[in-house]
Amino acid sequence: MSVRITGRDYMAVTPSSVKYSEITPADICIIDFSGAVVEGSLAPSVEAGMHAAVYRERPDVNAVVHTHQLYGSVFAVLNQPIPALFDEVAFALGESVEVAPYALSGSPELAAGVAGKLKNNANAYIIQNHGIIVLGKNMDKALLAAELLEKVAHIYYLALSTGKPVTLLPDSIREIVRGLRAYDVEKAGTKT
Ligand SMILES: [Zn+2]
Repeated sequence: MSVRITGRDYMAVTPSSVKYSEITPADICIIDFSGAVVEGSLAPSVEAGMHAAVYRERPDVNAVVHTHQLYGSVFAVLNQPIPALFDEVAFALGESVEVAPYALSGSPELAAGVAGKLKNNANAYIIQNHGIIVLGKNMDKALLAAELLEKVAHIYYLALSTGKPVTLLPDSIREIVRGLRAYDVEKAGTKT
């Protein structure tokens, strides 16, 4: 998990190999977008490069959460995007939850693969054979996105398992979602 430190190309990110239940504020790493440690004595998450790639590409994002949650990971191994199924989920996550290509955990290629998907202005992505990454204006929104993604992935999995066709949102609603997400990102980009 990470948050952008506004006004600088820095972020606060969770350390590598420390249980979340045991993390204290002093364990949080402050690093710049190239991965250099600014403050903190522990090694930052191996996926810090992926977080930095998001902050570089998306001015609207101030918090990033990466997980290996169960139903999100089902679609990671199916290498299958999750389409817009509910309007309120689509407004929060984006028109579609796309799949970023597989690359080794912690590699620059993985960060580049995620960065390459960010232009659709969504707040949620699946990472092939790995997990998911969600974005938000703040940490509360990013955490909510992780929960929403898990819920919609669970529902989509159950719906697909019936073997019946899954109904998507109408085109007109998807268009509204696309417009609103683009507006949000553009508005954040023009802020000084
Ligand atoms: Zn991971």
